[in-house]
Amino acid sequence: MFAGRGLSAEGGWVRVFHMCDGVAWARSDQLAAQLPAPDVVVGAGFDFADAVIVIDPGHGGPGNIGGSSPDGLVEKEVNLEIANRVRDLLGEPHSVDWETGTILTGDAIPVPASVILTRVGEGATGDYEAGLDFRAAVANAANAHAMISIHNNAGWEIATELPGSDVYYQSQAPVYEPSRRLATLLVEEFRRGFSAFQAEWVGTYELGAKSRISPRDGVSQYYGVLKASTVPTVIAEGAYINNPTEAALLRTPEFQHAYAAAVYRALVRFMTADDPGGAPSFDPEVWEGFAGRGGARDECVIPAQEG
Ligand SMILES: [Zn+2]
Repeated sequence: MFAGRGLSAEGGWVRVFHMCDGVAWARSDQLAAQLPAPDVVVGAGFDFADAVIVIDPGHGGPGNIGGSSPDGLVEKEVNLEIANRVRDLLGEPHSVDWETGTILTGDAIPVPASVILTRVGEGATGDYEAGLDFRAAVANAANAHAMISIHNNAGWEIATELPGSDVYYQSQAPVYEPSRRLATLLVEEFRRGFSAFQAEWVGTYELGAKSRISPRDGVSQYYGVLKASTVPTVIAEGAYINNPTEAALLRTPEFQHAYAAAVYRALVRFMTADDPGGAPSFDPEVWEGFAGRGGARDECVIPAQEG
């Protein structure tokens, strides 16, 4: 169970989510709930040691594997491995050589105050379902400064010179601007990190930071986790898992590290500078295609709790 944001506790009741996106009401005097800290604006002058970061390994569980490669690499597993690498990078102080992007031992960048994963574990222990509303509720309840949902793409349009990384941002106020900036920074860092690798890259006609609007009403955000999150959130689509040459890279520790390092650098730039990012960034567009289904299935099973 996880308490959502806005713990106004009207009449002593609090709205809570469980992992399969079910909603229930709980008596506030029976919850160990902590009110989120007041909003803090990130940017130049912000201390990274105060940062609250949510990393969301996309997909999970038997019914939601995400994309896959012809030789059996599945997205839910590689997303979790990359997310764990981001957690590990954030778990130690570092320095960054901003000329090359290399992350070094050092103390210029402190460990953030809190790093929360929405799916926790290594390998099979971290392979369980989590609904999109649940994932967003984790970030909202933590009042995170940023949430990055880790994915890899499938279904490209064309061969590309550059790595075909796309990052999706939120279209709704007030998170539109920071989310778009975070997405733009992350595309730039993906390109920097992935260009060192050899692959037959694929992508879409327009690569960069993007946002999709639901065709149902032409107004609301298409992606559930971006819609439900009230903190700056992006969906990272680093590489194409169903492209054999990129899948071969996604299997390697070196490429997984490069993905995690790009996320790390983007988070540091997002929170400690005002730099808008140098990658292409496209205005929100109504999306008429099909982008897969990332949410909890009807038969979503809440994992057994230990202890
Ligand atoms: Zn995915």
